[in-house]
Amino acid sequence: MVEQAEARRKQADGIEVSRLKLTRRQTVLVVDELPINATFVSLALEPLCDVITAYTGTEGLQRALEYQPDLIMLDVHIQGIDGFELCRRLKAHPVTASIPVIFLTELIDEEDEERGLNAGGAIDYILKPFSIPILRARVRNHLELNQQRKLLERLSQLDGLTGIANRREFDQSLQREWQRMLELQESLAVLMIDVDVFKLYNDNCGHQAGDECLKWIAQAISDTMQRQGDLATRYGGEEFACILPNTDIEGAVHLAESIRLAVEGLAIMHPASPVHASVTVSVGVAAMVPTAASNPMLLLGMADRRLYVAKQSGRNQVCGSD
Ligand code: GH3
Ligand code: MG
Ligand code: MG
Repeated sequence: MVEQAEARRKQADGIEVSRLKLTRRQTVLVVDELPINATFVSLALEPLCDVITAYTGTEGLQRALEYQPDLIMLDVHIQGIDGFELCRRLKAHPVTASIPVIFLTELIDEEDEERGLNAGGAIDYILKPFSIPILRARVRNHLELNQQRKLLERLSQLDGLTGIANRREFDQSLQREWQRMLELQESLAVLMIDVDVFKLYNDNCGHQAGDECLKWIAQAISDTMQRQGDLATRYGGEEFACILPNTDIEGAVHLAESIRLAVEGLAIMHPASPVHASVTVSVGVAAMVPTAASNPMLLLGMADRRLYVAKQSGRNQVCGSD
């Protein structure tokens, strides 16, 4: 039992680390209408990153959407959609908007340079012909900056204690998924999870033990949610909230029950609890197919009301109807 708990604790500690790992090799997309130029750049960058190539603006856009590279190097003078236009389109598309773009080009006039950096959204210019060491050094700097930016972005979405997504990420994801399910006319479900009589746990076992307990519960909730696209978050304090796209009320109640059982199964002793011998949670569940007349706050309010009913009915239970 003690060993199991210890293993779970270590696992919970590991969440934070594994979510922040950014060790994979980064990918750079090189768009140049001359294959020989693209190959030259690819060979120069090979020690640093994986390189994919495209020879026209259209192909570049397709590849950027398909691979979502970490950096894009664009020749300004490419067929069809030119480099400036391609950069503008990349910056206008939600999937590619945050990917840094570097122009790789022959001497251009000051006006073009200003246009590319300001209006076009490029972060840098590298002039041809370039020396391989300079090209590598500049690309390495941009890749490192990009990695730091992504790390900060991910940190800002995570809860510091449990390592799962935080309230900010919940709010953004709920808006996003509501919109997506509205377009698809699919059901969106929300779970509101609250730890039962947790104040008593803190009072009896101490706040530090309380914090550990919240980490284990976060891990149990994440582990129970198997579907890609599901999101488990710490809503605040001892409350957790899950977003389940493409899920109807039956499916959501089923998952909520699995989460309730998983937390009970952690068997974290709670001697002061009038509910159960170990720590438990109550869950309020709501689901709906979004309509233009409705909004995500109504869905959340419904889950919250049902959580209240689960509490009033004795705790350690799921409520998914009025
Ligand atoms: P109920 O079953 O009605 O939810 O009872 P409860 O005791 O869980 O509810 P209440 O809202 O009275 O207390 C919530 C407790 O959760 C009080 C607070 O100290 C504790 N809590 C909130 N956030 C944290 C945290 O980050 N760490 C610890 N250790 N405790 C926390
Ligand atoms: Mg609460
Ligand atoms: Mg509580």
